[in-house]
Amino acid sequence: MEPYIADLLGISAPPDLPFGELWLGTHHAARALVRAKGARLTLDELIRRHPEQVLGKRTLAAGFDDLPFLLKILASGQPLSIQAHPDKALAGELHARDPKNYPDANHKPEIAIALTPFAALCGFRPAPAIRADLHRHAELAPLLAGLPDNGDWLRAAYRRLFTVDEAQVRAAGTALATKLAKHDERTPEDACFLRLWNHFPEDRGTFSAFFLNVLDLQPGEALFQAPNEPHAYLEGVAVECMANSNNVVRAGCTGKFIDRDVLLAMLTYREGAPDIMRGEALPHGRSYIPPVPEFAIELLDLPAGQPVELASDGLISILLVLAGTCTLQPAGQASLTARRGSSWLWPAALPSATLVCQSETGRVVRARPNL
Ligand SMILES: [Zn+2]
Repeated sequence: MEPYIADLLGISAPPDLPFGELWLGTHHAARALVRAKGARLTLDELIRRHPEQVLGKRTLAAGFDDLPFLLKILASGQPLSIQAHPDKALAGELHARDPKNYPDANHKPEIAIALTPFAALCGFRPAPAIRADLHRHAELAPLLAGLPDNGDWLRAAYRRLFTVDEAQVRAAGTALATKLAKHDERTPEDACFLRLWNHFPEDRGTFSAFFLNVLDLQPGEALFQAPNEPHAYLEGVAVECMANSNNVVRAGCTGKFIDRDVLLAMLTYREGAPDIMRGEALPHGRSYIPPVPEFAIELLDLPAGQPVELASDGLISILLVLAGTCTLQPAGQASLTARRGSSWLWPAALPSATLVCQSETGRVVRARPNL
């Protein structure tokens, strides 16, 4: 079977290359191309030529002279890194200091909406729950000896994990993985650790399975990543939308650049289960509105043959067809048809449009500024 994104686009995945993300935006790492009236140009160029017509007055007035968001499909067959996203101040510092690894100066608030069951680690568990779990496993005791028994325990313990010497990591992890592999009954944290250790043997980031909330999102459930909160996406397909940035601070479980000291210093060490967003009901679908101005998402489920009226509210949108073949009929203009995997740019100057899917139930994701 083709990977999800290759299947969505109707192409063959390149062999031996990861094929885990589809990007729609103007980030310089992967600019979208727009076809308009026979011309073909990058979306950022189109915005530079016609900022008001494409982005809209309200987007410009809010201080955005480029597309404020980056829309992605994430389809991961294996766990991704333990990471956090910087706030604006830190992103500016990191970009100035290390533009190779921090390619822009923007923050990266992000939403991930599950399209399939989606496994993730997100935010710290309450410290007492972490401590109880660690005490169940004598193999981990040497890693955590002598930590302060007070409110600083979590910060000190997580730092210890990322600074203790490699021989100790190897010994503790190997002993624990060997023990867990023999047992059928594992807690979600145990199972997550074992899975991470098998993917990333001897990687100290794997112990995050005991520190962070282990989540299994169902389709339609979503996570919002505020700055400076640790997380890792483990498996599944999701719609992601974020501010227009590719700044990620990684601490483990990756072959990419690792910046442990920055990650340990930036984290809020807030404890508790993260909010799982389920969106607000729309007449046809659900709307996800995060607490940032850069983006909001609608997931539209369109019964076959039933037209749905959409309004632009004077803002730019990007629409991506996830299922079905759909026709967009902008008011007073020629209609445009798109199959699964195709996307439309809806410029702000176009006030309204009718969307209809032909023979089967269609699914369309719409991203726009949250203004
Ligand atoms: Zn992330």
